Amino acid sequence: METSVYNPYHVAQSQFDKIAASLELDEGICQILRQPMREYQFTIPIRMDNGAVKVFNGFRVQHNDARGPAKGGIRFHPMETLDTVRALAMWMTWKCSVVNIPLGGGKGGIICDPHHLSLREQEQICRGWVRQIAKNIGPVCDVPAPDVMTNGQHMLWMLDEYETIHGGRYPGVITGKPVGMGGSLGRTEATGYGVIYVLREALKELGISHTSTASIQGFGNVARYAAELFIQMGGTVISIACWDQADKTAYTYRKKEGINLDQLCSISDRFGGIDKNRARDLGYEVLAGGAWIEQDVDILLPAALENQINRETVKNISKTVKIIAEGANGPTTPEADEVLKQRKIFVIPDFLANAGGVTCSYFEQVQSNTNYFWEKEEVFSKLDTKMTSAFASVYDLACQKKLYMRDAAYTIAINRVAQAVRQRGWA
Ligand code: GLU
Repeated sequence: METSVYNPYHVAQSQFDKIAASLELDEGICQILRQPMREYQFTIPIRMDNGAVKVFNGFRVQHNDARGPAKGGIRFHPMETLDTVRALAMWMTWKCSVVNIPLGGGKGGIICDPHHLSLREQEQICRGWVRQIAKNIGPVCDVPAPDVMTNGQHMLWMLDEYETIHGGRYPGVITGKPVGMGGSLGRTEATGYGVIYVLREALKELGISHTSTASIQGFGNVARYAAELFIQMGGTVISIACWDQADKTAYTYRKKEGINLDQLCSISDRFGGIDKNRARDLGYEVLAGGAWIEQDVDILLPAALENQINRETVKNISKTVKIIAEGANGPTTPEADEVLKQRKIFVIPDFLANAGGVTCSYFEQVQSNTNYFWEKEEVFSKLDTKMTSAFASVYDLACQKKLYMRDAAYTIAINRVAQAVRQRGWA
């Protein structure tokens, strides 16, 4: 519902326009950066298990590749739209730029709901998507990865199809592959851990104890590993919100003394849903889906989908909240962002907070292309270094120029891409 009100592409463009105006970028550069360089839309016909043919719609958008090959995930989502993919592709450009890795931005999507597809059907969709785009992706031009509701197995099917078409082994064409099949150790944890590395730095700068409390929206890959590291660091997660598959409704699961992650994982499904009856049996309060945002905690961690902190929900944020670390892509609408700014809540913007995933994807590319794989500790230590230094640059600029953190992150990211565009002689 919110997506129809807040078109994410318009949000991404208005965020860009605001910063572009403050940077006084040339009109030509603005024209290049405020829209994708290339967009692909296609159909994927699949023979379903019942023998009927069903046609799915697929997308790939390459927003900008001035700093390196386009990079970004592929989402399976029943409500996917071209505009959502465009916005996410644009955010990928800023994300790779803010952490200073030599990659551009892209995103892909397929309109489908994997909950209602067998594994064979999902495999056919993955292979069909690659068949339609195999000439336009590749290790030197566009490198996909997992995203919402896609995983390592999907990436491996896609890799296999690409390699069959191109007649060779190209492990650098896709990231998020399973470990042992060209994947990097630590990729699964990387986005969630990255959120906590930058949150740790923010807590230090703001002088807030690491034994703080958090409420999380989401229970997928990002949320789980963020919760894991936050708890390891000494924090307490008092609630998480996620979907109950049986009810097709989201609930907030709360335990004031702190959730037990292993216990919740043991009653969750592979899409990050939790069965409410089993949660109740384990002593969790089952509250409304939107209750995660109302909790009296120090930190809110939206790690589900876009537009979750909006005009309506922003009113429910408790006075106790000091930091919002955006694990999801685009969780805050522009109106809500204004409110956060006025309330002086410290926001770690999405494309900085959740850049750990793509940073580890970059490490995976490096390892795949050199055919030499690192130990897990090495991956985490390099990831921590990258995230910490990206946070430091953004925070320093924010303090120096008295900017809101999102604006400071945009300023750094857009400036770097604009400079690459200029140096290449595109504008
Ligand atoms: N899908 C992730 C993101 O939104 C990772 C992209 C990648 O690894 O290329 O950042």
